[in-house]
Formats: sequence, structure tokens, C-alpha cells
Amino acid sequence: MIKVTIWNEFRHEKKHDIVKHLYPDGMHTVIARGLAGDKDLQIRTATLDEPEHGLTEAVLADTDVLTWWGHVAHGEVRDEVVQRVQKRVLEGMGLIVLHSGHFSKIFKSLMGTNCSLKWREVAEKERIWTIEPSHPIAAGIPESFELPNAEMYGERFDIPTPDKLVFLSWFQGGEVFRSGCCWERGQGRIFYFRPGHETYPIFYNPTIIKIIGNAIHWAVPRIQKEDVCPNAKSLEVIPPRKVDYSFVPEAIRKNIPTA
Ligand code: ZN
Repeated sequence: MIKVTIWNEFRHEKKHDIVKHLYPDGMHTVIARGLAGDKDLQIRTATLDEPEHGLTEAVLADTDVLTWWGHVAHGEVRDEVVQRVQKRVLEGMGLIVLHSGHFSKIFKSLMGTNCSLKWREVAEKERIWTIEPSHPIAAGIPESFELPNAEMYGERFDIPTPDKLVFLSWFQGGEVFRSGCCWERGQGRIFYFRPGHETYPIFYNPTIIKIIGNAIHWAVPRIQKEDVCPNAKSLEVIPPRKVDYSFVPEAIRKNIPTA
């Protein structure tokens, strides 16, 4: 079984009228229900306002893949929880970052860049192109598909060049965007997936859920390994060696006791 934790900030659903009605139990619940048909997955959810944001040491130790949706409260995510998640990713846990999670502390810390982009919210059409059809995340996904209403995210998306770019978006207004990006950090796999704006019914779309499910399978840890930085004994015998100081200026060299 793949142990999945679906994390959601769960704030828009409590405050904004459209979102409250669209996702009365939260986006995390709709994503979890959408994935429920996959019998390989053992799913739990966690939200910002739970103690330790629902991401205790025990929960993370028992998570193979974490999905992340956040937007208005990135700054409220405690730094020690971010560090805990980052450590687990580097040890091998998979991480799927959705939509506005591009500005989350965890994504930015793993990317090391600003993760900024252009945006516009006018319910325009998005066409998503599958540009790596042989990639496991693209399994069963058509060459292209449309979201009738989307928030536009446009380039430049300030990320490190992805190891693999699986999806590319075109928007009615003319912009393009790298929408499905894969990276590896330490032993862990990371997938950023663009769709997921809270006021549109994105997570009720079966193609979107299928891609998230594929990404979870792709991001499963291959090994899980605590990071160490050991002083290593040589495997072969190395005869005693003197340090060569011959190219150090004489004025310096004469003061080095072993030179
Ligand atoms: Zn949005």
C-alpha cells in the first residue's frame, strides 16, 4: 500500500462563498474521494489548523507521498514543520505540489528560486498538452485536454529547469506555462502540477484526479535513507603521503611546520 497524506490549507473553503459551496468539506476531501477508487492507496488528510498542521513526526514517518495545496496562509506554516517535510523529501518521501502551492515555503525551499509567475483570474480556457506521453504521470492522459475555466498562470515561472516537463499549458489569453514538472531532491521525487484554482471545479475533473493519482504512484519512495555525512575509512591501503607545498610562496611556506 502507498501511504498518502493529502494536505490542504483549508481556509478559502471556510471564508469565501463560492469555495464554501463548491468544496463544503474542503478540497482535500474531494481529492481524497477522487482517489478512493485506487486500491493501492491508503489515504489520510491533514490541514493547516490541526496541531502541527497535521504533519507530526509520526504522520510524516508514515507517509510515502504528500500532496500540498496552499494559498492565502503560506506564511502561517511553521518553519519547523517545513523543515520536517523537507527532511522527509530528502530522505525519499514523494511530494506533489498543487497550483498556488508554487509559493509555499516547502516548494520554495526545495527549488531554491523565487517560484514567481504571472497570473490572471477571468475564467478563461486552458488547454493542457501532454508533451511526454511515455512518462508514468501521463499514463492514460490524452495528447491534449481542456479546462473550460482556469486561472491563468504564465511564464516566466521562476523554477529550476525541471528534470522532466510532462505537461505544458496554453491559455485563451495567449500565455503558456510549464504545468507538470518533475524534479528529484535527495532521494525524493517532486511533481508540481498547475491546475487547482479554488473557485473553479478543478478537483471534480476526472483527468486532473487521474494525473494526481499517476503522480502519487511515480513519487513513491524507491529507497528511504536518513542523510549522513560520514568520515570514511579508505577501502584500499594508501601509503603515507606528504603534502606538496612547493607552489606556495616561500614567505608563507617557511612558516608551515611540516613543509
Ligand atoms: Zn489560484
